[in-house]
Amino acid sequence: MKILKNILALFAIAISLCASAQGSDYPANYARAPRFKALLVYSDTAEPAHVDFANDAVDFFKRLTVGDGWILDTSTTFAGYSYERLKEYNMLIVINISPAPGAEREAFEKYMENGGGWLGFHAAGYTDRSTDWAWFNRFLGCGNFYCNNWPPQPVLLTLDNTTCDITRNLPAEFVAPESEWYQFNPSPRENADVEILASISPKNYPLGIKDVISFGDFPIAWRNKNYRMVYLNYGHGDKEFTDATQNLMTVNAFRYVASHAPEGNPFNK
Ligand code: ZN
Repeated sequence: MKILKNILALFAIAISLCASAQGSDYPANYARAPRFKALLVYSDTAEPAHVDFANDAVDFFKRLTVGDGWILDTSTTFAGYSYERLKEYNMLIVINISPAPGAEREAFEKYMENGGGWLGFHAAGYTDRSTDWAWFNRFLGCGNFYCNNWPPQPVLLTLDNTTCDITRNLPAEFVAPESEWYQFNPSPRENADVEILASISPKNYPLGIKDVISFGDFPIAWRNKNYRMVYLNYGHGDKEFTDATQNLMTVNAFRYVASHAPEGNPFNK
């Protein structure tokens, strides 16, 4: 009888252990429902290389939704996206497009100032004198577009930060696929609120064939600590998703923005 009691006690312990294992984060955290919603906004009327990247980016992020882990909506315009509509999204993935002056900019500013998320690629960060949007320069954390290499080409990137969630699983240096790289002036490195993640190595200089950049501080990935945002400078042409290391940085940046939502980290659900 005592043996039977011991066996039953062992069963009870085993059952409780199984129950606690199910309630823990190990071995995997299976989503029971989509974890969050993101809105990908892109231009289908930009220069062809920017549209190529946008189409590839839509495919890339759609593949990340497989299994319904999150919901991806897409739009080719910010028009009609009031603050009330934007705030339904954990984050915006913005591809080679910007909100237009007026209601679109106002809604975007309010969204970002109230904890919204932004993962911006390439021309999503482009500004020049005609842009006339001082808030956006503060948000991006740097001056206007200054110059670019031409034609698009691969470059050696160097990580400025090797320990954050976006970079710690990346090699300290790697060759990124061909792109049109934008240099900004003043550099975001001069802004104390900006954390630079990766830069174009000076070893690349002179960079370009037709249009040549020979010097200058050249960050290409950063975040402004005052906002839930990451800017990635690549986003030109149809080769941007051909490199596993850069793809990993893209996924890391996406996950970083999504996971810092004010309502909580959706990956812990
Ligand atoms: Zn471009």
